[in-house]
Parts: sequence; structure tokens; C-alpha cells
Amino acid sequence: GAGDLQIDYKARTITVGNKKYKEGDWISLNGSTGEVYLGKVETEDATLDEDFTAIMNLAEKYTRMYVRTNADTPKDARKARDFGAKGVGLCRTEHMFFEGHRIDAMREMILSDTVEGRRDALNKILPMQRGDFEGILEAMNGLGVTIRLLDPPLHEFTPNEPASQQYMAQKLGIPVERIKEKVDALHEFNPMLGHRGCRLGVTYPEITEMQARAIIEAACNLKLRGLDPRPEIMVPLVGTVKELKQQAEIINRVAAMIFEEKGVKVDYKVGTMIEVPRAAVTADQIAEVADFFSFGTNDLTQTTFGFSRDDVESEFVPQYLAERILPYNPFATVDPGVAKLVEMGVELGHEGNPDIVCGVCGEHGGDPDSVKIFYGIGLDYVSCSPYRVPLARLAAAQAALADK
Ligand code: PEP
Ligand code: MG
Repeated sequence: GAGDLQIDYKARTITVGNKKYKEGDWISLNGSTGEVYLGKVETEDATLDEDFTAIMNLAEKYTRMYVRTNADTPKDARKARDFGAKGVGLCRTEHMFFEGHRIDAMREMILSDTVEGRRDALNKILPMQRGDFEGILEAMNGLGVTIRLLDPPLHEFTPNEPASQQYMAQKLGIPVERIKEKVDALHEFNPMLGHRGCRLGVTYPEITEMQARAIIEAACNLKLRGLDPRPEIMVPLVGTVKELKQQAEIINRVAAMIFEEKGVKVDYKVGTMIEVPRAAVTADQIAEVADFFSFGTNDLTQTTFGFSRDDVESEFVPQYLAERILPYNPFATVDPGVAKLVEMGVELGHEGNPDIVCGVCGEHGGDPDSVKIFYGIGLDYVSCSPYRVPLARLAAAQAALADK
């Protein structure tokens, strides 16, 4: 929804209409309405008063479908738990790769031509990721935490500006031309449909190994401290059961190794996102090797319609909405066609694995109208950002009451 912004990366400015903002300028956002204010507006934390607690207790009494949260930090996980989230439905690990010096190690990994070089670079990220996961698992002690393996295309991490290419060339002791070549080689015309999701884990299994190690070691460390960590490792963008099988083998091998090293075991789950139509229609096969399904309805909407998520705001979708060819934005409220695929995925999933746990973690998980549709489909849970948890809980309870 921010398609009007003209971002000039070189000048580090944003232009909207006739207003220009530079790096460091303050703006404030109203997260409920989407309004943007110039300057730093004073804020205060929302408080949970008695009315809120009473309504949430009522909701709790009638709900069948529970609510988890999408959280990438311990702080968000704690906040969501205060709002009544029953675990983390999606932890997007890519945000953790961007922070501070991690991006250098990540770039080193991508620019390396050898497996050893990539492993060395990933080993620098391992302790930091382990720390992140310990924090989140601790915040959700006793509740499931679904941690998704790396999802975005690698060129999101590559140095694209000449200065950072020069810096990486010096750091790695290689000519800057080599860096440019690699960056060019990673370029994709539609990265949303390209080398991302589990396709990364298949081509760079060392990334999966490192992330599985970080998650399982974090869980073992907490268990040794007397806590009850419940990690669930999620493989993104699976389209065929073989992708999941291959990634699950890596995860299980690494986990067995760590249990041996540490002399302690933790229960963990391995599951997948269902976010491309092929996964939904072959869900019976995929479920045979999955403990859980999490429907990624953002990508599932993109791939079902064939709309690129990167481009929907540009031209035709706004016109489709204006002319009511689309009655509403399908990225905000789940479309019936996409919901049908979710339903098919849930049904087939149970054929392949009667115990499979099914949830949704796309943006729709926090949209009350979609929550009611997901209840009708029989999902076990929806997952949404921390501040949408109360609304989702209310919608889930209303859906259950309407069904009585
Ligand atoms: C999704 O596709 O619905 C999802 C949750 O993943 P992401 O938005 O990170 O692609
Ligand atoms: Mg996705």
C-alpha cells in the first residue's frame, strides 16, 4: 500500500507528492488506520483493562480454533503472549540475517564458491541465530514455536551498491569484478517466483544444516536449564513431497547429531508451508512426511491468481477493485478460490496423516472475515501479528458461536 513512495536509494530520500524526506527524518504511523504523520508523535503503550480481559475470557470459553502469533523477536513473542497467543505460528528467520554484522557473514556465504567457504561464513551466523531462537523459545516456554527456514531469494542480501561491493571485495580479498559477476548471476526477473523458499535449502543444504543446528541447540540449551521448549521447524514454499523429504532428512540428521553431542533430547516437529497450488493438491503425499501444515495464504494468493505480490499495487489490481471485478483485495481477505485450495489441502492432508495439525500464517490470519472462513474449513489455528491477536481471538469465538 505504499506504492506512491518514490525511494531514491542513492540520495537516501523518499518523495511523496511534493514532499521529500531524508534519512533520519521522523515520521509516525498509525498502525490501525495506516495514516502517516510527519514528525515524532508521542505514543504510549496500550494497556489491557478489565473490559478487555473480560471479553477475551468470554472468547476463550467458546473458541475451538486457537490463535498463535507471527513473531521474529522475543519482545514480540512476549507481547503476543500477553494478548493470549498460544505459541508462535511463524518466525521469519530472514529478518535475523539482516542485522548488524550478520549481513557481512551472509554476503560472505553467498559470494563464496566453495561449500567450505559457505560453511565458514554460516558458522559466524550460527551463535547469533541460536541466541535469537533461545529468546523466542523461552518467551513461549511450554508452547509450540514454528520457525521457518530461510525464505527470500539470496540477492536480497547481496551488495548492490559500488561502495559495498568494494568493501566486500576487500574483506574477501577478491577482485570487485568477481563480486559484480556474482551479483549479476543472482539477478532474477521475478524473484517472488524464483530461487527462494526450500529451493534455497535444496541448492545450499548448508543453510538448512546451520539453521536446524541453531534451532535444536537452542532448544537443548533451554531444556538443560529446566525449561520446556517446543520447536517446530518449517520448510517454506514446498511444491513436491520430495523437497520436504530431502529437507527433513537434513533436519533429522542434524538433530540426532546434536542430541548425541549434548546428551539431551527435545521433542521437535518438522512441517511445511502450503503456499503453492501444487502443494495443496498433493497435500496427501506431503502430509505423509509432515507433522504440520501452515497455509501461507500470502504466497498462495499470489500463486493461485498468478498476481505477483511485488506488483499488485501498480496498475491493474486497483482498477479491478474499482470496477469490482475483484470484490475486495484478496491479499487482505482470503479469496474463495484460495480458500478452496486451503480446504482441499486440509482434507487431503488428513488423508495422508490423520494427526496433522493445520494452521494459517499468511496476513489473512489476522483478518476477522478470513478467520471465520478458516474456522469453517476446520483449521486448528490461525496466526497473526501480535497486535491482531485479540481481534483474531474474538473472530474465532464469534465463528464458533455462530456455528452452535
Ligand atoms: C505467506 O506466504 O503467506 C507467508 C506467511 O510467507 P511470506 O509472507 O513470508 O512469504
Ligand atoms: Mg510465503
